[in-house]
Amino acid sequence: MEKTLLIIKPDAVRKNLTGNILKQVMDAGFKIIGMKMLWLNKEQGGKFYEIHKGKDFYNWLVDFISSGPVVVACLKADSAPARLREVVGATDPKKAAPNTVRNLYGTSVGENVVHASAPDENPQREIDFFFKAGDLHEY
Ligand code: GDP
Ligand code: MG
Repeated sequence: MEKTLLIIKPDAVRKNLTGNILKQVMDAGFKIIGMKMLWLNKEQGGKFYEIHKGKDFYNWLVDFISSGPVVVACLKADSAPARLREVVGATDPKKAAPNTVRNLYGTSVGENVVHASAPDENPQREIDFFFKAGDLHEY
């Protein structure tokens, strides 16, 4: 079993999509082993997304991710990072496969309702960004 990080972004929280998205993820076989709501400030948002520093959408992205509360969840499943990316769909909702989370709920390449750790971009670093060992529960 592997772990990965899901963030329900401010656009989705504002639209009351948190429950729908969590249900879709859990129906796909993921177990939630840690979860919380928080409102990132720009410094925290910028640090989380520092891999994108220098890109033309970086400042927009930092403003967006800190524009309202997010729900962060640590999920566990076989091949969790790769499988969650499949459930979430492509970055641009218009290009995301039918019935993926972003296809169903995303409105633009930026406002795409969720973040899911990329398998090749250190999911553990993203989990550690939000959760201490004692915040995660194996059951
Ligand atoms: P992801 O791994 O599928 O989330 O996509 P990326 O790592 O490429 O980008 C991170 C996040 O930045 C995306 O989920 C979007 O919210 C945002 N983003 C990516 N590309 C663009 C873009 O061209 N314009 C804007 N406004 N936002 C973008
Ligand atoms: Mg990415």
